[in-house]
Amino acid sequence: MSSRRKFLHSSAAGLAGLAAAPLAASALPGPPAVGKPLVISTWDAGLNANRGAWKILGAGGYALDAVEAGVMVTEAEQSCCVGLGANPDRDGIVTLDACIMDDKYGCGSVAALERIKHPISVARRVMERTPHVMLVGPGAQQFAVAQGFPLEAQKLSPDAEKAYREWLKTSQYKPIINVENSGTRPPGPAGGANNHDTIAMLALDAQGRLSGSCTTSGMGFKMRGRLGDSPIIGAGLFVDPEVGAAAATGQGEDVIRMAGSHTVVELMRQGRSPQAACQEAVARVAKIKGAQARDIQVAFIAVNRQGQIGAYALQKGFSYSLSTTDTPRLVESAYFLK
Ligand code: ASP
Repeated sequence: MSSRRKFLHSSAAGLAGLAAAPLAASALPGPPAVGKPLVISTWDAGLNANRGAWKILGAGGYALDAVEAGVMVTEAEQSCCVGLGANPDRDGIVTLDACIMDDKYGCGSVAALERIKHPISVARRVMERTPHVMLVGPGAQQFAVAQGFPLEAQKLSPDAEKAYREWLKTSQYKPIINVENSGTRPPGPAGGANNHDTIAMLALDAQGRLSGSCTTSGMGFKMRGRLGDSPIIGAGLFVDPEVGAAAATGQGEDVIRMAGSHTVVELMRQGRSPQAACQEAVARVAKIKGAQARDIQVAFIAVNRQGQIGAYALQKGFSYSLSTTDTPRLVESAYFLK
């Protein structure tokens, strides 16, 4: 069978299997209830981020403080996909997106923010100190500076410079799925801090308060002005204190078109476990994309207010970091396309 036919065949089989066996929450294997406090975040970068969050959660602190402090660790690391060391857009400029949600429907977001080291903290200020939810581009930067955030140099990190020069040779926009854990951006070791995508984090604190955060440079070599799901409340992140929280990573366009994180939370509201909700949302992406599903990665993490967690990816290769003590664990996610 040609590889293209094999590809179509296996995609169709995946979808047919889905139709034949509707997803029942009770029948699904999934992570057990882990209780509280807990923090879950995307990819292996989540290990360091969780350690940052646990300093707050483990001491009985507020979930919102934990999810901010946690992803700030990743924003400060030199990585391909988060923070100022990340890959630039196709004009050679690093633009950052972030959002945050608390346990009272409070939300704040910044998008296409340049030269600011901690977009997640600016997003929190948008939530706490403006009448708005979202600030973008120069306005977001102006607000950040007015709030006292230093304006960093407009300069690519050595790794990003190298990756950009390489990209300019073809100038083709072709995001690599699962760039994380794969060592595709030298010089980071496989599984190291240089190899991961968006960091999204969900926390349930000892008092049962839920919060979430999400921060990214988006897809490397994207068009100037492109926004993904990560700064969009309901797409990259959603927290409903009555139900649970969810966050996404992967191809942002395909998360936005099905309101990904909001969908996961709504499925939990209808009675699905976090695992079943993530699985059903990923199956929806697979159905929408059809044969093209093999070209992308999309993954969700979720937690409900009872302290059950879930994670599910479209493709093999997604892992998440889970902490219920001060020692985080990296867990490989189940996935849809076999
Ligand atoms: N969701 C991010 C975006 O589309 C990228 C990622 O998580 O890989 O910008």
